Amino acid sequence: MSEPDVYRMCPCGSGKKLKFCCQSVGAELDRAADLEERRQFDKAIAHLETVLQKGVREPSARTGVRLRLAIDLLRRESAGGAEVDLQKLRELVGDMITDTPDHLEVLGIDALLDLRERGYPGSQKTFSTLLQKTGDHESPCVSSAIIRLASELLSSGHTLAGMHFLRKGVMLTPAPGREAPYKDLLGLLQNVDILAPLRVNYRLMAPANRAKHQSAFDAAQKLFGDACFSDAAKALIPIVRDEPTDGAIWWNMGVCHACAAEEPLAVRAFTAGSGNFADPEAAADCLVMARLLDKPSEEEQVESVAQLFKVEMLSRLLSRLDTVPRLVRLPSAHDHDHDEDGRCANDEPSSTSYLVLDRPMSEVPAGATAAEFASVLGSLDLVSGDPTDGSHAVASLRCHGRETFQSVLAHLLENAGTDLIAMEEPRSLGGEFPEQALFDQANWFPQTQTMAQDVAASRAAAALQIERWFDQPQSLLQGKSPRNAAGVPELQIPLRAAVTLLELFAQRRRQIVDADSVRARLGLPAIPRNAPTFEELRDRGTIFSLRRLNAAAISRDALLPAIYELASINTPWGIPLMQQAVRQQLLPDAESRGHLESSLTTMLERHQEFGLCAETIREIIELSRKRKSSLQSVAVWEIKLMLQLALLGQADELQQVADRVWTYYLPKLPELRTVILAALRQLMPEGPWQSSDTPAQLAGATTAGGIWTPGVEPAAPAGKLWLPGT
Ligand SMILES: [Zn+2]
Repeated sequence: MSEPDVYRMCPCGSGKKLKFCCQSVGAELDRAADLEERRQFDKAIAHLETVLQKGVREPSARTGVRLRLAIDLLRRESAGGAEVDLQKLRELVGDMITDTPDHLEVLGIDALLDLRERGYPGSQKTFSTLLQKTGDHESPCVSSAIIRLASELLSSGHTLAGMHFLRKGVMLTPAPGREAPYKDLLGLLQNVDILAPLRVNYRLMAPANRAKHQSAFDAAQKLFGDACFSDAAKALIPIVRDEPTDGAIWWNMGVCHACAAEEPLAVRAFTAGSGNFADPEAAADCLVMARLLDKPSEEEQVESVAQLFKVEMLSRLLSRLDTVPRLVRLPSAHDHDHDEDGRCANDEPSSTSYLVLDRPMSEVPAGATAAEFASVLGSLDLVSGDPTDGSHAVASLRCHGRETFQSVLAHLLENAGTDLIAMEEPRSLGGEFPEQALFDQANWFPQTQTMAQDVAASRAAAALQIERWFDQPQSLLQGKSPRNAAGVPELQIPLRAAVTLLELFAQRRRQIVDADSVRARLGLPAIPRNAPTFEELRDRGTIFSLRRLNAAAISRDALLPAIYELASINTPWGIPLMQQAVRQQLLPDAESRGHLESSLTTMLERHQEFGLCAETIREIIELSRKRKSSLQSVAVWEIKLMLQLALLGQADELQQVADRVWTYYLPKLPELRTVILAALRQLMPEGPWQSSDTPAQLAGATTAGGIWTPGVEPAAPAGKLWLPGT
């Protein structure tokens, strides 16, 4: 037998080397790990229990065996095996703590148990102690307990708290397993469905009278840093009593309560803050936070409703639905032929989707104005049955609003005959504020010919939504519409907040609202722009202050940290700052510069700001030439520029760039041949590229030749459909 490697990681799961951990029971632990790898959890557990019964002399090795046992009990459960006996696990943890009181992994399991038994914020103190003891040490059990907490918080709607713990959890995850949670975190940070202010990593704002309250503020900050959020909020009470008009303290209390998953208290603190900030803009921001953390009341909310149906005969239903004038069948990824029972020829379940419109398509003329576009009332998804398990075809209907749902359902049943059989009562998928629901309204355009026409149509639809917002009654405005609230003095701050919410709801649908012009129409002053120093930005900065920055005047040392923080959060409020950083070539190395340029242009493209995007790309090309970047990366920017020009319908410049790409870049860059040809053929119907015999493949050129290149995926909807957010 070969000598076992004592410098490998200990199989107990402590993250330490075997020699300094459980060497005396190493073989036993290896046996358990081996069984576990083959998913024989019962055998692994029985083996470890036998080892314990025989007795293990050293306390640290004893903990090693028990720790492995605890992990196996939990893994067996999550693999669908026997549920964990909490009493037994509790005893196991108690024994481990007696033997090795400061063992991080043991404390991690302890916190996990506490979370199961008491939930959050019940287990807040346990997690806080855990985090303090853990410091910066990476630890598998601690990080998995924290990530578990984060996912429970996120799935129950406590977004700020969940994001906070997910960040911590990822930081503490040892490298081999970090990838998955890190990806989850990035996904959430970039997820525009979560409104931007709920994705921010908040710090506490310094009190206005800092000198006087330094020690109390330090104490609160320490508690906040240790994830003792409820206590941090309590520690702020003396300051707020002393300085009730310092809105920053109310803001801090709101942030603390939100991180503690105590949203109702957070809403109260933010609301109080809105009445106390001397600065009307900051007061409005407090109201925005209060609104975002509050759930809409039942009578004001617009519910998303869904219902599942059994389909009697799919092929018959599909041919009927195809004749209904208000239904549009969406092109499916793989359109196969269906046999008699609606099954696909290749036996895989197939899906078909329809949109239900508010009017027949034929009533929308070719040159329709936005007001004449059809509105999408709901969607119907049909999935064929699976012959291998004998399951039948099902249909699922989804709509915004109960009334809409009822009318759409009636329309469908009238046309579907007896082929749709309800399998359940209509169920709610959650409600939202009416002013938010307005932006979830999708439109269906008439057939258009060019990308630029599609863009123009979607912009017209977006502009119409904003027009409608002016007449949307809002509870923030005491049930008045923004238009009617405009002249009411006591509604001036709520009105500012309403405009910010408009921006946020539109951002979620990838639209950028010109807040200053909306405010001007409501008689509100433009947002004041300032150029804070780095210290001011750090001490009083919130995501909302991004809108108030004068990017052109801000100093380099204030801009850089703001950019790093911004880079992770996908919000158009950061666009001016990012542009400034690109222009000043602020980032030190080529890689981060590349990322910044790429995320800026991608964001502009996603928000359909194609003009600004083209302008930015021209600047980037100019800068890239000056700093002698690789020809390849410049070429990819040129291709990206072509796409923007096509979307804008700027034929002349598009022709120039296309000629340049064809005559200059293509001969020099054979490795980009496929990408260049695909782009030219897609965007330019006429030219020598169309007759070249090189096979065309569509874009997908995020990495070409091993160096970083910006993505060139087409941003515009390919068909005539424009759904916000897609
Ligand atoms: Zn060990």
